[in-house]
Amino acid sequence: MGKLTGKTALVTGASRGIGRAIALRLAKDGARLVLHYARSRDAAEALAEEIAGFGIRPFLVSGDLSDIANIDAIVSQIEDQIGGGEVLDILVNNAGHLLPDGPEAGESSFDGLVAVNLRAPFFLIQKLSVRMKSGGRIVNVSSGLSKMALPSAMLYGMTKAGLNHLTLSFAKEFGPRGITVNAVLPGIIRSDMSAWVDSEEGARIASARSVFARVGEPADVADIVAFLASDDARWVTGECIDASGGQFLV
Ligand code: NAP
Repeated sequence: MGKLTGKTALVTGASRGIGRAIALRLAKDGARLVLHYARSRDAAEALAEEIAGFGIRPFLVSGDLSDIANIDAIVSQIEDQIGGGEVLDILVNNAGHLLPDGPEAGESSFDGLVAVNLRAPFFLIQKLSVRMKSGGRIVNVSSGLSKMALPSAMLYGMTKAGLNHLTLSFAKEFGPRGITVNAVLPGIIRSDMSAWVDSEEGARIASARSVFARVGEPADVADIVAFLASDDARWVTGECIDASGGQFLV
């Protein structure tokens, strides 16, 4: 029996990268998974097959989170597949993206980044909290960039800083129900989003940023999320937890 046996977990952006690693880790801990994807259907289906091999076949839900209408569509898909009432134990808001950014960025970048990185987690939490059991877990995948000045990624950092505050406020709101709300703040992690680390030069630069002198992997973040999703983390809420391998130590 795993630490999450009997729990049901939704992971957004589970098709690739960090979300995929989180889904795999939660499934290995015994959770029943609801895998969300937007464009990478084949990858999500392949992951579902892999997880089914552990014993529990996951459900798949889809929707581009840049469209607010898709939030309700995702909630409906969840209700159709696993039912109404309090059916969810764990919600991991992982889906996120980058767009052209910086002090001169345009409105489409501003709106597009806010929509996926901040608006979607807010409304998913708002609409799914009524589906969450007492003792539930919400984990938001933020970023170390929420706490440092990098003007070329300032809009992205602003959305993640907003996610940190959302974490704080919802933690207070849901505390009486025994639901914890925390965020993890990765540094550079090998994924499509940080594909530049796959070059020799990129790996050298990324390794030099961590005090552990290596590139961060999706599983490094997934293991922290698994802790926050477990009963072991019942006394931690409203926290923004560094998941950067010491990248931001000065
Ligand atoms: P990734 O490899 O690019 O994967 C992004 C995931 O988010 C995919 O599953 C994708 O789904 C989903 N997604 C992207 N845009 C979406 C949209 N409009 N609607 C719905 N889903 C969408 O990125 P990652 O590195 O795993 O990033 C995961 C999270 O970690 C993000 O929140 C990111 O900001 C954060 N993060 C990453 C790093 C890093 O260095 N990699 C560092 C700090 C924080 P589809 O493929 O199905 O479209």
